[in-house]
Amino acid sequence: MNEALLFAATSDVSGKVRGKAFPLSALEKRLGKGIGWTPTNVMISCFDGIAEGPFGSLGDLVLIPDPNTRIDLDLGQVIERVMLGDIRELDGTAWSCCTRSILKAAIARLNALTGLQLNVAFEHEFQLVGAPDAAGEAFSLQGFSHRRQLGERIMGALRDAGMQPDTFMREFGADQYEVTIDPKEALRAADEAALLREIVRLVARAEGQQASFSPIREPAGVGNGVHIHFSFATDDGRPATWDPAGPNALSEPASAFAAGILKYLPTLVAFTAPSEISYLRLTPHRWSAAYNNLGDRDRESALRICPVTAQDPEGIAKQFNMEYRAADAAASPYLALAALVHAGCQGIEEALACPAATQEDLSVLPPEALAARGIERLPETLEQALSRLERDETVRGWFAPVFSEVYLAHKRGELAELEGRDPAARCRAYLKVY
Ligand code: GLU
Ligand code: MG
Repeated sequence: MNEALLFAATSDVSGKVRGKAFPLSALEKRLGKGIGWTPTNVMISCFDGIAEGPFGSLGDLVLIPDPNTRIDLDLGQVIERVMLGDIRELDGTAWSCCTRSILKAAIARLNALTGLQLNVAFEHEFQLVGAPDAAGEAFSLQGFSHRRQLGERIMGALRDAGMQPDTFMREFGADQYEVTIDPKEALRAADEAALLREIVRLVARAEGQQASFSPIREPAGVGNGVHIHFSFATDDGRPATWDPAGPNALSEPASAFAAGILKYLPTLVAFTAPSEISYLRLTPHRWSAAYNNLGDRDRESALRICPVTAQDPEGIAKQFNMEYRAADAAASPYLALAALVHAGCQGIEEALACPAATQEDLSVLPPEALAARGIERLPETLEQALSRLERDETVRGWFAPVFSEVYLAHKRGELAELEGRDPAARCRAYLKVY
């Protein structure tokens, strides 16, 4: 007789979901006391190397699973039972390097500052690797139909996990797909993003496929983006993002929030695009993001004001949202969203004015013309982004000092693991682990 196990997990600094399993029969007890966790685990890179960190062999933590995040994914042979949770010190306080607790703190900052709720939807792209790629399939019925069974199984599993599947499409890249789900309150949206990636990989594996969310499959290939849509609502649920009289039709808090993201974007990418190959994706003409610009329905902008289909003010207000495009799945959704929320809060605190949306191809403009408009080319390597983070006291101030230290050391350890490999070999390495 098998013993049913439940896997309690964290989506960690490397963007991997890691944890430990315990007998399902002990769930009640484990919801209280959690499972033991080791501080140095936070130094484990996506390649399973361990970077030099501040904790060494010392210390103990607990990972407390949150029953709201439970999934029971029926894979036929087995049921994959998972709960995400928070890592705490033994005295119950949040651990400074727990990504989920970091997001909770960011959301609390926004609530205290504005009283607003943040609604978020993560949009994911991924590729099936290993299967022979059929040419001429982008957006086609043939391409979709080729994977209909996988798509239906994924969407069903997402619904079973409490998500609201929105679309499944055959994207433009080689065997590339996109899956979208409905927006949720920020913490829940990040929970769902972390679970969605695992569900897609597990379902694909059960179908004999390997799904990879790696930021880019080969240097000249098409990127796999994670686009983060967000909007605001009052605590009684009224939309609060749109104001036809505001700059770019944004409400006052939404406009300052956007301005904060744009100002801090060249540093933010250290968290939202945190792999070496993320910077192959963040280049012009890839429909990702290469500058810290705002765009109005422009898929080359880092921050995009999205289209609405409604014609009446109430409908427009409800649909109006922004999309951050400079993120990928090498980032834990908790950390990527926390960084965005802090940047937005910073914009509100600094009462920043939102710049006008750009209309043209920024890659043809000389640096002086960009600078005159407050626009910068985003970092072109992970090390450039990390060095910026190291120098940016405001951004580091959003986190506990030990977290910034851990993050920089973790990411530099990851870079050291890639030394001596050319870009194509780096892409192959990341393809396997995300
Ligand atoms: N694949 C693109 C990216 O890397 C996005 C394409 C799209 O607009 O859906 O972000
Ligand atoms: Mg897409």
